[in-house]
Amino acid sequence: MMKLTVLGSGTSTGVPLPGCPCETCNSDDPKDIRNRTSAAIFLDSGETILIDTAPDLRHQVRQFGIKRIDSVVFTHYHADHILGFEDLRPFNFISKKAIPIYLTKETEKELSRFYSYIFEPSSSYEGGLLTKVENNLFNLGDSFEILGVEFQSLKLKHGSMDVSGFRFGDFAYCTDCNFIPEETIDKIKGVKILILDALRWAKDGSHKTHFSVEQAIEVSQKIGAEKTYLTHMTHSILHERDSKLLPKGISFAYDGLEISL
Ligand SMILES: [Zn+2]
Ligand SMILES: [Zn+2]
Ligand SMILES: [Zn+2]
Repeated sequence: MMKLTVLGSGTSTGVPLPGCPCETCNSDDPKDIRNRTSAAIFLDSGETILIDTAPDLRHQVRQFGIKRIDSVVFTHYHADHILGFEDLRPFNFISKKAIPIYLTKETEKELSRFYSYIFEPSSSYEGGLLTKVENNLFNLGDSFEILGVEFQSLKLKHGSMDVSGFRFGDFAYCTDCNFIPEETIDKIKGVKILILDALRWAKDGSHKTHFSVEQAIEVSQKIGAEKTYLTHMTHSILHERDSKLLPKGISFAYDGLEISL
């Protein structure tokens, strides 16, 4: 049986926010400490598929004892989802192989721009070995296979941007969205477990590119998964106190949450 571990359930700043006096940022509850949003899928073969390379990647692999990364699939190119890219390099050293990555044309373009020294190294480059990946492009909505697992890309709206969620088997992962088109809802329906974006409580302000907790609850009920976990959260959410406010079947994700798939 595959297992998914949430490596990060926090928004782009992470939680706590350095210097913030709020209750969440000063909480002793480990569930209120949130790395930037990412997850890892552990296969029976021992292989590991990473979803996004968050800026906390080096810390996350140490925190969760990840010994290998065999493939990476990207949701989109925002900084909080790609800036750990360099931390793939030690895994190249160990495996002596390029890591296959799966991404859209748009993500490839931005990743190459951020990391031009890797993707277009100058002829005079004198440093150590560069991160080695092998790009595999997909279009939003495509299905493709990674290490024997069938992934279906799910087209999500993240403000004016189109990003990818993923469905594999009875599970769907949909971070960074503020709207899910009807045809994508149909593709998600029937999953047992859903991970869904929920930035903060609506009282703390609506957002142009992320669901609020209230909006995520509504969408989750429409999809009707047996269990929904909310992710990409700010310090608006204090885990234990706020968990009591969620309807049955919906919980806040937390770093280290393990889900059997
Ligand atoms: Zn705070
Ligand atoms: Zn984003
Ligand atoms: Zn994000």
